[in-house]
Amino acid sequence: MQMISKMTEKRKAIIIGAGPTGLAAALRLHQQTDIEVTLYELRSEPTTLGGAIGILPNGLRLLHRLGVYEKAVARGFSSSNMTLHSLQGNIVAQQDYVGWAREKTGFGYLRIKRTDLVDVLLEAVQQMNIPIHFNTRLTTIEESDLSVKVVFEDGSTDTADMLIGCDGIHSFVRRTYVDPEKTLEYSGMSGLGSLIPTSALSPTTTDQVTGLDVTLTEDGMLAVNPCTANKGELFCFFSKEAALPESGGGRDGWEVHRKEEVDGFKSTLLRSLENARGEWGTALREIVNNISVVKFYPVYRLPLGGIWSKGRCVLVGDAAHAMSPHAGQGVSMGLEDVFLLSRLLEDHKRSLDEVFDKYDHIRRPRVNEIFKLAAQNAEVRRKSSAWGLWFKELKVSVGMCLAWALGMEKTGLRQAHLVYDIDAVELA
Ligand SMILES: Cc1cc2nc3c(=O)[nH]c(=O)nc-3n(C[C@H](O)[C@H](O)[C@H](O)COP(=O)(O)OP(=O)(O)OC[C@H]3O[C@@H](n4cnc5c(N)ncnc54)[C@H](O)[C@@H]3O)c2cc1C
Repeated sequence: MQMISKMTEKRKAIIIGAGPTGLAAALRLHQQTDIEVTLYELRSEPTTLGGAIGILPNGLRLLHRLGVYEKAVARGFSSSNMTLHSLQGNIVAQQDYVGWAREKTGFGYLRIKRTDLVDVLLEAVQQMNIPIHFNTRLTTIEESDLSVKVVFEDGSTDTADMLIGCDGIHSFVRRTYVDPEKTLEYSGMSGLGSLIPTSALSPTTTDQVTGLDVTLTEDGMLAVNPCTANKGELFCFFSKEAALPESGGGRDGWEVHRKEEVDGFKSTLLRSLENARGEWGTALREIVNNISVVKFYPVYRLPLGGIWSKGRCVLVGDAAHAMSPHAGQGVSMGLEDVFLLSRLLEDHKRSLDEVFDKYDHIRRPRVNEIFKLAAQNAEVRRKSSAWGLWFKELKVSVGMCLAWALGMEKTGLRQAHLVYDIDAVELA
């Protein structure tokens, strides 16, 4: 059984990775426990990853409890209006897609640039004077009965009572220490995304984007969503299938494919939109014509199962359970992990073994549920024939009409997972 070194001494935790999960873990442990935290981040600056992410009510509620919600809202775009457009220029369906969950939780939907979210969390970490070291790549983890020691590439070391691996999908902590057997799987799906300043667009086009505006094409799903509070930037992303390169899923294989996807992004999309009609068709072509920097992400995930802790080390966020992004829950899953872990660590009497066992036991079913939901949501993004596309749109439209006619929207249909509150889960 892993005991904390000396009960009278302050406990110490090392957090590896300063993405959304690592920063949130540092904040929550600082707020809720007596644990001294130090963060280590591989990159030389907070983040260079682009794009914008959507955060749903279960995650926003936790950002609120971290004390960063207002600042996040001041940067991102809050609207849960979802419009499904057809290429014929009609509106197939329109709804407030978290209406029921908002009533229950008081939180809606926020689309925020990843850099802004990380900035807001980092600012809070710095305000709490939590030490954070950039440019530090973890290279070795060693454990003894009383502590865990980490060694970084520059030769520096640190020792603590526990190590929290928040180092993302390619987690070093997982690969080399906690669960080396686990391998990533390619989901068959990919995402292409770009940030577009609305100053480059006509007011008519900007006005038409009211929230998450989605258009299905035969090749995949095209979505546009403002991602800054003043609607100064739109995030345009295209979810679609992409075959594994013939040379395999290694870095080189994807590098060639990435270049082809990025180079062809605009022309392929414009071809799909050639016959798009109406004001929406014109708006989409204008938006796509203004795309300049494109990022391509082949979507990998960790198959369900696997080990989340070993000795004094535990995996949290994407490091433990990276899933496809199609449920919009990646960040929220990391936040839920962090809140539970922190609550479990609050009680000094629990050994680390007990904490990590309970963490695993409580989180597994929730993670499995959301993983499956994300996989299901990917289906609508798959390639289809013209008839297939017509059928998909019909299904969405009829489904929404029926739900409305039968009053199912009022029962929280498809929204129950958004009101889940990790702090309300019994620990006993
Ligand atoms: C295309 C796409 C779209 C997405 N859309 C959404 C969305 O709309 N909503 C949503 O909630 N989620 C979305 N996600 C998922 C979301 O981005 C992740 O779930 C989230 O970033 C996970 O946060 P994390 O902190 O666990 O990991 P990461 O964000 O990967 O952060 C890990 C950090 O650890 C650092 N690190 C790695 N190795 C080391 C090391 N050896 N030493 C020190 N530091 C290290 C990295 O540099 C990084 O800063 C999307 C993902 C993709 C790919």
